[in-house]
Amino acid sequence: SDDGKVTGRFMLKLSGEAFAGGGGLGVDPDVVHAIAREIAAVVRDGAEIAVVIGGGNFFRGAELQQRGMDRARSDYMGMLGTVMNCLALQDFLEKEGIDSRVQTAITMGQVAEPYIPLRAVRHLEKGRVVIFGAGMGMPYFSTDTTAAQRALEIDAEVMLMGKNGVDGVYDSDPRTNPAAVKFDALEYGEVITRDLKVADMTAITLCRDNNLPILVFELLAEGNIARAVKGEKIGTLVSD
Ligand code: UDP
Repeated sequence: SDDGKVTGRFMLKLSGEAFAGGGGLGVDPDVVHAIAREIAAVVRDGAEIAVVIGGGNFFRGAELQQRGMDRARSDYMGMLGTVMNCLALQDFLEKEGIDSRVQTAITMGQVAEPYIPLRAVRHLEKGRVVIFGAGMGMPYFSTDTTAAQRALEIDAEVMLMGKNGVDGVYDSDPRTNPAAVKFDALEYGEVITRDLKVADMTAITLCRDNNLPILVFELLAEGNIARAVKGEKIGTLVSD
């Protein structure tokens, strides 16, 4: 609408890689601040925002496993990495004057609340951003799957997947194939049969089975979070 007001509850899945900025590892405060500003703007407009952040800027369990580590332990390291991203985002949301709560699937009372879904919903209703950390708390899962599961449990209307350096889903990798074609819309089944890189399969099937739409969009383009929340035609929409 013209007054800029937004209603609805949204799950925002942020790429951990994006948090690293150009550095690849760790957190670039300037990037996190820019993302926080965008989230703050849509919260002021009335949107209820829940966030899940990846951990690829710290550790990926599968990569550590390839280098000889135990998979489950590596996955726990991956999950702990996501919590640092959550705290960074919380800090910059606070600087923007937006209240937030971090809820983690692995209990760490000094820095975050435990994951309590009904409490998360109350926070959202009060205009607080809820940031879910430590994934599902379980090895062999991903933060994509976490975002889908949390979105369903808190009854978010769509999962907004902010990607780093790609503005939607393509039929091949646009970074290596200049002739790659972007999809405006896709069905869950096409994502699965064509093995398109939207999210991992566990996340996709969870969304399909429960009819949760997924919007894939470029996270770091200015104004894109607002466009995604307002339902403007950006990125690629995956639905049935
Ligand atoms: N992870 C996990 N369980 C979860 C969520 C995450 O074991 O429920 C671990 C996993 O090792 C993963 C890492 O945390 O590689 C970082 O999460 P993310 O989904 O961002 O991995 P990425 O997509 O960056 O590979």
